[in-house]
Amino acid sequence: MNSFARLDRRYIWHPFTQMREWLRREPIVIVEGRGAVLRDARGRKYLDANSSIWTNLHGHNHPAINGAIRRQLNKIAHSSALGLANEPASVLAARLVQAANPANGDWRSTIDAAAGCKARQSNIVNRTLSKVFFSDDGSTAVEAALKLAYEFARRSGRSRKPKFLSLAGAYHGDTIGAVALGHVDLFHRRFSGLLFKTDEVMAPYCYRCPFNRARPEREDAREYRKCGWECVGEVERKLASQKKRGAPYSGFVFEPLMQGAAGMIPQPAGWLPQVTDIARSHGALLIADEVMTGFGRTGAPQSQIANRKSQILFACHQEGVQPDFLCVAKGMTGGCLPMAATLTTQEIFDAFLGEYEEFKTFFHGHSYTANQLGAAASLASIELLQSAASARARHQLQQTMRLELRRLWSLSHVGDIRQVGLIAGVELVRDWRTREPFDLRERAGIRVCEAMASRGVLTRPIGNVIVLMPPYCTTEQQMQRMVEVLHASIAAVTQGKRPCSVRRPAHE
Ligand code: PMP
Repeated sequence: MNSFARLDRRYIWHPFTQMREWLRREPIVIVEGRGAVLRDARGRKYLDANSSIWTNLHGHNHPAINGAIRRQLNKIAHSSALGLANEPASVLAARLVQAANPANGDWRSTIDAAAGCKARQSNIVNRTLSKVFFSDDGSTAVEAALKLAYEFARRSGRSRKPKFLSLAGAYHGDTIGAVALGHVDLFHRRFSGLLFKTDEVMAPYCYRCPFNRARPEREDAREYRKCGWECVGEVERKLASQKKRGAPYSGFVFEPLMQGAAGMIPQPAGWLPQVTDIARSHGALLIADEVMTGFGRTGAPQSQIANRKSQILFACHQEGVQPDFLCVAKGMTGGCLPMAATLTTQEIFDAFLGEYEEFKTFFHGHSYTANQLGAAASLASIELLQSAASARARHQLQQTMRLELRRLWSLSHVGDIRQVGLIAGVELVRDWRTREPFDLRERAGIRVCEAMASRGVLTRPIGNVIVLMPPYCTTEQQMQRMVEVLHASIAAVTQGKRPCSVRRPAHE
């Protein structure tokens, strides 16, 4: 066994990992990465099909980001943000604010471009995200937003006991506040004794929606759903009934366009502007968790590809929604260093202003806040993202992905294929005609990912959903390979499962 593997097995406790299983086999030890390819200690190469847990944007070892980190390293790696300012973090804050506030003209064209989107003006005008609170990862970005919203609600007299609403299946991180906002029983229920109470409301999960009257088809369930937007009605009812009790929700927390760890669950176009508009009209602040969706992950309409100035980097903006808090992390540094940010408005910021002895300070922060290496990497990454070439490449890759994924419909154990930008979730089922799921204990998702790894493609499942989230530099051939391997692995793992006859889709 490789010596690093031996040390790992002896000393490391891995996150979200059953260590008994881990200890049964030799781990893959990654020693190098270039573009979308990772290389292990044995010299084997793998495609990084989940961008190293959704963090990497432009590929590994990118010369522009490496160069920016090196240049910064020659000056200083880190100095504290408690009492001191620094150069790259100041510039980065300005760039983030710029990216978080596309001009009004862009909002409108985006809204017009989004099919079925009925955003009302109240959602999008006069709300500038102008202040940036840095932290270290997705959980801390959400945690900061939660604490700010809590204090703001109390200070502004909106509520004495602020209460928050988040979506069914929500996952916002692993710190206690973020866990309290989460609704994944498997992860969160066991910690219930540590948590404060938040409420949960129905999220649109078209494939398994009890209100969707459509029979299963070989198509993304959003496309053939038959419903009356009951999921929006559920959100409205929830907010209204809480308001009637005299204690309206202080904040509505959501992932825009696609819920990640919930199982890559996409929202049909128009859902987000409707529910955020309702939430606002009931007095809730909007907390958008763009830890996964941010920095171009969710794609952009064709109309924006050519125009450098109008490029939209955040999922909210694709639907014309401007939140009060925007939480970003993961891809911010291009996937090179841990760094996060919570953006908010002047109004929230002002509620924390006062004389020292009033103690209105936001008493919260971390040692590595506004880290200079992370800020330098983030600046280089944003520069790349905003280039017309990157936007074109992302758009092209998104199209290739869509085309390739269609091949999976020929597999009878594929129930739903859902793609938003450069994120795809493939839901495995026992029978696509009935949507009958595999029992989690059968480990279908895990076994498919193991089979993929043995064929040179790395990703992780969420239950029975296989995630494909390639780096933006992935070539057409690499994208084809990822799907080819996914196809072969599903076929291999589900061979001999209860058979369902396969009708080949018309488009093949
Ligand atoms: N929010 C979302 C939407 C996430 O997907 C994640 C991580 N998967 C987090 C928050 C937490 O981020 P981190 O793991 O960086 O703390």
